[in-house]
Amino acid sequence: MSNCVLAFDFGGTKLAAGLVETKQGAVLCHYQEPTPRGGADASLAIMLAWGQRLLAESPQAVVGAGVNFGGPVDSRRGIILESHHVAGWNNRPLAQELEEKLHLPIAVDNDANGQALAEWRYGVGSGTRSFIFINLGTGLGGGIIIDGHLWHGAHGLAGEFGHFPLHPDGPLCSCGRRGCFEALCAGPALQRRLEEALTHERSPVRLTLAELWTAAEAGVPIAKRVAGAIFEDLAHGLAIIQLSFDPELIALGGGAARYTASQLHDIQQRARSYVLPVVSPYLHIAHATLGAESGLLGAAAIFLNQARDGHA
Ligand SMILES: [Zn+2]
Repeated sequence: MSNCVLAFDFGGTKLAAGLVETKQGAVLCHYQEPTPRGGADASLAIMLAWGQRLLAESPQAVVGAGVNFGGPVDSRRGIILESHHVAGWNNRPLAQELEEKLHLPIAVDNDANGQALAEWRYGVGSGTRSFIFINLGTGLGGGIIIDGHLWHGAHGLAGEFGHFPLHPDGPLCSCGRRGCFEALCAGPALQRRLEEALTHERSPVRLTLAELWTAAEAGVPIAKRVAGAIFEDLAHGLAIIQLSFDPELIALGGGAARYTASQLHDIQQRARSYVLPVVSPYLHIAHATLGAESGLLGAAAIFLNQARDGHA
């Protein structure tokens, strides 16, 4: 018989909680609201009320709860290190606080690891043993699964792909350095690169970021040039990841990764040209496949993995 996990998704812009059936990864019911002003206490009060309601309504046994948190987390101790968006989270023992109120084992991790685990368990990475997920949104981060286990690194800092230094003289990054992968390929970088090209070439063509990939595919010259330069930088970043981890698959998700199927293939071919010939045939990239439910599925997958490893 299948069972359920209580799933909590704490984001900077929205909160969500739901019940996830663990075998199929089906979200049975869920609540969602914009993240309230009022800091960590206000968010936690809403989540606890939802959690208690979901536990009372659950049609199946609830084995534990997972938390997918939008910020750095000490997952071993279940402590939130900080939130860039919401005040009051610094060094908060979230796992302990939830456990005392809900009387369930609790597992906590950050959202990049949550998305990686969700795609690995329920999405495009299912069936693989070694899998990398990259989120290209406002920033660029990811999660690493090696031999069926999430790799946190010795200090919980693994997967910071966004700050690979690709071009020492490149554009300024959010971290204060220059030419990081994030400063070249995440959402704000794409916007900047498109605007710079339009201005520099005094282009009569008006083009928004949302139109960039389809315009490039349709052969609009300026869109092709901008997309080609971005794909080249992406290929360098992906080559480093493939050479470092030798995964079966690298999945790309997030709003800045909506390339067409043929563009995805183009990026893969470029990346293959930057790795050793012996590595090249094993470099595979794909789009992430989970949609709006990935946050809750990530929370459930965080619990299931920590429970399996004896940490929840
Ligand atoms: Zn950086």
